[in-house]
Amino acid sequence: MRDLDFNKALVFFAHPDDAEFMAGGSIIKWVAEGKQIVLCVVTNGANGSNDPSMKREALIASREEEQREAAKITGVSDVVFLGYEDCMVEDSHELRRDMIREIRRHKPDVVIGPDPTMYFFADQYINHPDHRKVGEALCAAVSPGAATVPMYRDELFDKGFEPHHLTAAFFGLTNSPNFWVDIEDVLEKKIQSVSVHHTQTPEFGDQFTERMKMIASFNAEGSDYKYAEAYRAMYFRER
Ligand SMILES: [Zn+2]
Repeated sequence: MRDLDFNKALVFFAHPDDAEFMAGGSIIKWVAEGKQIVLCVVTNGANGSNDPSMKREALIASREEEQREAAKITGVSDVVFLGYEDCMVEDSHELRRDMIREIRRHKPDVVIGPDPTMYFFADQYINHPDHRKVGEALCAAVSPGAATVPMYRDELFDKGFEPHHLTAAFFGLTNSPNFWVDIEDVLEKKIQSVSVHHTQTPEFGDQFTERMKMIASFNAEGSDYKYAEAYRAMYFRER
């Protein structure tokens, strides 16, 4: 496992609440170290309720508000909403272009997103297809997208979005981790950041806290930590 020094990260996830679930502890720690974290939420979260009385526009607005509240807790400096339809994400050229544009706009050292190869988690969870598709599009946006001049030249380069080189990419929600962040001392704050997504965690309570601890403990397997967030990390430039 390698230490990673960086100043700025751009975090891509599919749904409002994904970033806190999958990387909230890491974000809290990185912000405390003085790093700047920008969050890019790909979908509008419009399918994130089983309540038949919930109105679509109200849910979208609530989830955006919840995401902004969570970002205040984790210390994210800016939240970008791309507004793709929840549950319908594809690895499209449109999404790749939007991601490349945000990478070129915010110029992070590292990007963070979901592992696109992740289908099954711990014999208990089939990964949401939006998570995989965001991961796939992000891979393309990272390489060859962000640093390649001709990629979407007239839509990006010719409009001033200059190519940008990344130092590393971290893919969370992964079955093949090679990098862990110790989140034991910030686990409580991470759980708090997840809990403000009220539309997603109405049953928030002791059971939820225990479940979050269980996941953090599971993610620590393979590391020396008790509670962790785990990533498949790719390092660029150093070969
Ligand atoms: Zn999600």
